[in-house]
Amino acid sequence: MKIPLSLSSSAMQAFSSPNRCTWCDGCGDYGIWSAAKRALVTLGLQPWQVLLCYDVGCHGNMSDKLGGYRFHGLHGRVIPLAAGAALANPKVPVIAFGGDGASFSEGVGHLVHAVRSNYRMTFVLHNNANYGLTTGQASALTWQGQTMNSSPNGIPEETLNSMDFIFSLRPTFVARGFSGNIPQLTEILQAAIQHRGFAFVDILQACPTYNRFATHEWLLAHCYDAHAEGHDPKDFEKARKVAVDTRERVATGILYQNEDIPAFHERLKPRQGVKTTPVEEVKIMDVSQWLKEFV
Ligand code: SF4
Repeated sequence: MKIPLSLSSSAMQAFSSPNRCTWCDGCGDYGIWSAAKRALVTLGLQPWQVLLCYDVGCHGNMSDKLGGYRFHGLHGRVIPLAAGAALANPKVPVIAFGGDGASFSEGVGHLVHAVRSNYRMTFVLHNNANYGLTTGQASALTWQGQTMNSSPNGIPEETLNSMDFIFSLRPTFVARGFSGNIPQLTEILQAAIQHRGFAFVDILQACPTYNRFATHEWLLAHCYDAHAEGHDPKDFEKARKVAVDTRERVATGILYQNEDIPAFHERLKPRQGVKTTPVEEVKIMDVSQWLKEFV
């Protein structure tokens, strides 16, 4: 779907917040914020029809800046809380936002199990290749050899190949965007929100304060639209190859999508054929007898 250049200002306004932005000038979070809002509005969602979950990090300050039901979790733990909400009410779109620091270190176990479980939710990775909020320490995705605040002699470890890692988990949706390409990012997020299962959206973003290697200019020069070059997002092996190979250029767009694999809640045998959601059921369930056992 092509995104109209101007969206209804009242619909956009519904997601607005009076809180001032505290991100640094030139931060990629601004582009992701804008694309997320545009995607929600284009899908016709109102703030009360979506759950937005945030990890701790610079990106997490978006919880004050984008309307909707919001939950700001603990560091590295955004996925389990978002997955729990998605299981409780699969009818509500759930979006979890996390940074590369938390998601590929403290929270990496949650990421592994969310991908293999195929929970029906979107995970947006704010990938600025460092821990920005705590002043520029190296993350697992910082380029090897780069000097960072906590590593003045350069990063000795190999950079984690995050895309190879994600593809090794047999995902059902993988996309990569760039915070400087808001129209493409909006389309990616729309597709991710509508995906049947777990949608992994890696967004390369500038962090002009601490990331001096993958700058906005570097990303502009290296990112390309894989679809414009005929990429087929249905071919798993080709998608993996295109996603992993970032030596010369970086492919963006929906790199892989498979809608044939049921989401986690669809595979739960006791839930099959059940039309109601767990949140609807607890409203009419009498638990007084069970509670007596604990008082
Ligand atoms: Fe953005 Fe980096 Fe500033 Fe954090 S430190 S607000 S990621 S530019």
